[in-house]
Order: sequence, then C-alpha cells, then structure tokens
Amino acid sequence: LRRNPGEEEFHQAVREVFDSLGPVLEKNPQYADAAVLQRICEPERQIIFRVPWVDDRGQIQINRGFRVEFNSALGPYKGGLRFHPSVYLGIVKFLGFEQVFKNSLTGMPIGGGKGGSDFDPRGKSDAEVMRFCQSFMTELYRHIGEYTDVPAGDIGVGGREIGYLFGQYKRITNRYESGVLTGKGITWGGSLVRTEATGYGTVFFAQHMLETKGTSFEGKRVVVSGSGNVAIYAMQKAQQLGAHVIACSDSSGYVVDEAGIDVDLVRQVKEVERARIAEYAARRPSARFVEGARVWELGGDVALPCATQNELDEQDAKALIASGVLAVAEGANMPTTPAAITMFQEAGVLFAPGKAANAGGVATSALEMQQNASRDSWSFEHTEERLARIMNDIHDRCATTADEYGQPGNYVAGANIAGFTKVADAMLALGVI
Ligand code: NDP
Repeated sequence: LRRNPGEEEFHQAVREVFDSLGPVLEKNPQYADAAVLQRICEPERQIIFRVPWVDDRGQIQINRGFRVEFNSALGPYKGGLRFHPSVYLGIVKFLGFEQVFKNSLTGMPIGGGKGGSDFDPRGKSDAEVMRFCQSFMTELYRHIGEYTDVPAGDIGVGGREIGYLFGQYKRITNRYESGVLTGKGITWGGSLVRTEATGYGTVFFAQHMLETKGTSFEGKRVVVSGSGNVAIYAMQKAQQLGAHVIACSDSSGYVVDEAGIDVDLVRQVKEVERARIAEYAARRPSARFVEGARVWELGGDVALPCATQNELDEQDAKALIASGVLAVAEGANMPTTPAAITMFQEAGVLFAPGKAANAGGVATSALEMQQNASRDSWSFEHTEERLARIMNDIHDRCATTADEYGQPGNYVAGANIAGFTKVADAMLALGVI
C-alpha cells in the first residue's frame, strides 16, 4: 500500500489474487524463497507520457498516456489500451495485473500489459480522434513491437482507433508490422471473430458453468450491463443459444425490452451513431429507458456485467440473488466488488471472474498474432471453433484447479491459482530478472 499510494483499484486486484494463494504457497515454498509475490506485483516497466493534440477549434489539448508493461515471463506484453476520462495509473496497473493471469490462463505464449489515456473520445470528431491517436502513437511506438509489446483495444478503443494507431505506427517505422497491434480491420491484418471474441467467450464460459448444473442458456432471462463491444456480442451469442436477453445499459442508465433486446439496433445506436442507449428506447415501442439506475435491479437467471470495474455491488448482488440468479459471468474486468462476490459464492451462485470469463478476447488476439506471423487468414468458423475450445479449456482448468485445492466450484480460486502458478514457474526458470 505504501509503495503504491492512492491506487485503489490496483490494491483491490492484487488483494483478490493474493487471497487465493495461501494454499499454493504452502505447497510450493520455492515461490516465497524466490520472492515471486513481491516481484509479480511490481511492473517490469511503467511508461507515462504527454499527449499533445490540436482540437477542431485550433486549441492545444494535453492528455496523459500510459503503458504498463507488467510481466513478460510467458511472452511479449499483451493487453489493451483504454481511452476514458477515469484512466490514471491505478486503473492501468489493475488492468495490467489482471492481464498477466488472464493471459496465462489462455494457454497462449503472451505476457501481460495494459495502457491508455484519460482522453475522452465521447463527443470528439473523427478528425480529433485521429489527431489524438497519432500523437499517442508518436510516443508509444518506441516501446512496442511484435516481439516486445502488442497493444489492443479496450473501453473507448475500437476498430476506428486501432486503425489510426496502426496507420501512425506504420508511417513512423516504415514497417508493415501487422503483429504490433491486434483488433485490426479484416482487410489490413485483422482476424475474423476478434470483434466478437470477448462477448462470445464470456457466454461460452457461462454455458459451461450452467452445464455443471445440468442446464443451459435455453429460455433463461439474461441481463447485461454496458452496450459496447463486449456487451453487444455477449447478447448476440446468448440469443443464439436460446436466451431471452431483456436489458442492457450505458453510463446514463439502462433499457429494458421484454420483447428481447434487438442487438442490431443497439449496434446502430451505440457503434454507428455513437449515441446514448436512451435512443434505443425512443425507437423501440417494446422498450423503456430507466435513467441513472443499474440493470441489476431487474433480476434475472444469468447476469453478465460487461461495462466497467466495480459496477455491481452488494445491493445489486442482493437484488440478483433475490430473483434467483443462477450464474454471473464477468465480461468486464473486475466489475463485481469483493463483497458482492462473497455474497454470490455464499448463496451458491455460479460466479466466473473476468480473468477467466473474458479471456476469449485476448486469446483471439493471440490467434490474430498467429495469423499475422504466418501471413495467413482463417475462416470465421475455424476461428470461432478455436475460441470455443480455448474457453472450454479455461473453464476446465479453473474447475480442476479449484477441486485440486479443495474448493470445488470456486472459479475465483481456480482462475487465480492456475493463472499464477504458470507465471510463477516461468519466473523461477528465468532467474532473478
Ligand atoms: P466499450 O468502450 O466498447 O464499451 C463500454 C461500455 O461500458 C459502454 O456501454 C459504456 O457506456 C459502459 N461504461 C464505460 N465506463 C462506464 C462507467 N464508468 N460507468 C458505467 N458504464 C460505463 O468497451 P468494451 O466493451 O471493449 O469493454 C467493456 C469491459 O470489458 C471493460 O471492463 C474492458 O476492460 C473489458 N474487456 C474488454 C475486452 C475487449 O476485447 N474489448 C477484453 C476483455 C475485457 P458509455 O457509452 O456511457 O460510456
């Protein structure tokens, strides 16, 4: 705490992982001997930089850019960039720390990192977003590379931003180095299924959890928070599996639609028009908009938090448990507060932490890197099949590890322990570095 003052979200993320590790350290004293815990929560490198850019009125704006290269024991740093006004070092470090264990769980050769800026893309013109991205990359380019550090998208960074970032990287370096960024467009080195991967993967994970109780998404009432990349494709896959998705949200409130959410309309409103979710209700007679409230108050059979950190607290957990919720799978990173997680676990609700449930996004980014390295592009079906298999393996790895450590059904413990031991073993093998 004294080493990292004021970085609340980072403390929360570290505490959650370390809380699971007691039995691991008992079994493996070599980790303590080699100071693995101390080393693993200290990023290998943290870069903070000025991002000056000129807005449409000709005024100079200054934002702060971050890249935290957390751990490269398993491979090049890998993790997204977040553009949101709430971004500061504590957010980037929490995300980077989570990413280390998530990437380990995927079974792919990728280390963990994360970055971003306090830039707010909302209400900015395309030209402003482009100038910002170009300025951001003009500093970042010297720190990244196919074998070094491979950023991707996150909140506020989608296909448009990755395009501008990649364009600037290519221009500065004079290299068509496709593997330097993931989440690229299909015509310039991207992978099919990457756009859908985090949302689809979260639903695949939830489906496996439901199977352990002999049930499925068929006919289940599903509530989703957010209406961005992860939320949209989580809703789409849940519907394909027969679920009745009744609600989604943004930071202004939620929409409830008993006729079932029309995912194409959400995409039109949020991705194409970049408007507010209230606009969905304005165009859909079966829907209503509830301002300033959280979607969880509706209750449901399955809850998929897909917006942001700490967006589901004890009060929300209480409402969900009272409605008989069977499963909660985190599409976002750390959306559930620690107290709410405990409530779900004590009530016997299946609970999947983000580092396991939303790992499909980064896993498909690693598949994008594979395609770039071999100058190949795979079909949608083949890539989705690989994603499905990866999510199945992550689910089983978490479940088996939880069993092995005497905590059957505890996906939090399973994910933390399985993610940690692989990284820790690699760190031991690589010496004191
Ligand atoms: P987007 O920017 O596409 O969408 C974010 C959504 O969350 C929007 O609906 C946004 O609403 C809402 N939101 C953001 N911040 C807040 C806030 N402070 N309070 C309430 N709502 C908020 O981002 P993604 O869908 O890509 O990311 C969502 C989550 O998933 C994040 O936690 C991210 O880290 C995680 N994730 C994303 C991956 C990916 O591949 N994209 C991979 C793994 C995890 P509004 O429009 O009002 O801002």
